[in-house]
Amino acid sequence: MSDVVICLWGRAGVDRAAQGLLGAGRRLADSLPGKLRAVVLGPADESLVTAAQAVADTVVVVEDELLGEYNAENYLTALTAACKTLAPRAVLLGNDAYGQELAARLAHRLGGSAAGDAVDVAIADGKLRVTRGVYGGKATAVIALAKSPGVVWVRARAMAPAEARTPGEVERLQLGLAPDSRVKLVTKHVEAKEGVRLEEARLIVSGGRGLGGPEPFAQLQTLATAMGAQMAASRAACDAGWVPPSWQVGQTGKKVAPELYLAIAISGASQHVMGIADSKVICAINRDPDAPIFKHCRFGLVEDYQKVVGPLVERLNRRS
Ligand code: FAD
Repeated sequence: MSDVVICLWGRAGVDRAAQGLLGAGRRLADSLPGKLRAVVLGPADESLVTAAQAVADTVVVVEDELLGEYNAENYLTALTAACKTLAPRAVLLGNDAYGQELAARLAHRLGGSAAGDAVDVAIADGKLRVTRGVYGGKATAVIALAKSPGVVWVRARAMAPAEARTPGEVERLQLGLAPDSRVKLVTKHVEAKEGVRLEEARLIVSGGRGLGGPEPFAQLQTLATAMGAQMAASRAACDAGWVPPSWQVGQTGKKVAPELYLAIAISGASQHVMGIADSKVICAINRDPDAPIFKHCRFGLVEDYQKVVGPLVERLNRRS
């Protein structure tokens, strides 16, 4: 019997999501108090096992050749088997595509309850309580999960990592999975990407519809380059075809958690803010003093972006 299980993807390695998930799991286990087991699925590099060992009481590396490539059926079967062996009260997954796809199905197979998009997970009166934003981030709900185990996908990148402690044990679990014939990988398209993934970026410069077209994004790119930042955009700018859809941040785009998010000519609709709420500092440049983005930012400049971006790039380039 263990108390808290967190699920890590071997392929992802030690990223901010893994560190945040380890932190969230450790704090929940300590609050019980109880044991934390980190289940690592798929081929894991040793740095991930070591990072998990530094925080969890036990690291369970689930080995099977069918876990080499992500396949929801195989991952679900493996996770279900591991969780049935470990019998946790809570299972935490990250808010990546795998976590979101697997959490509810895993809860069903374990006879538990599921919740998603958690910013906090705690135990109160013997029930797992999940805190999450609702109504496009305008309100916060605290949900008590009725059944055990509670399976929750959390906003891992925004969660604080845990301090290292005495290294836990490592167990290897051989499952001998049978191939699932219902789902087959037919083809794989790897998106060309430059630089750091948006979800992992420390600095982001983001542009909106107020830029008026694709050309100004080239100017924003010079600003991003001068800052060492990644580029992002609102849905309006992506839908207009000015920038690739992969740049979209928000409810139906990427959830980012940079140290600085600079929103330029973005109104700050609630669906956009949902994707940037975990940023440490939000800054905005917008010519409309009543733009909703100003309610969410630490620093705001009411100005036409064209008067600001050029001098800012010049100033930054002069410094370096
Ligand atoms: P606008 O709302 O048009 O704002 C443009 C801003 O630019 C204005 O505030 C204006 O004052 C300012 N501006 C104009 N000219 C200048 C200038 N020269 N200098 C400075 N400022 C200037 N949106 C997302 O972004 N991400 C999502 O994931 C997302 N998901 C959605 C999901 C659903 C179900 C729905 C219904 C909507 C979703 N949206 C999403 C859309 C969202 O509601 C907004 O329509 C969108 O975010 C608006 O983009 P914007 O701020 O770039 O454009």
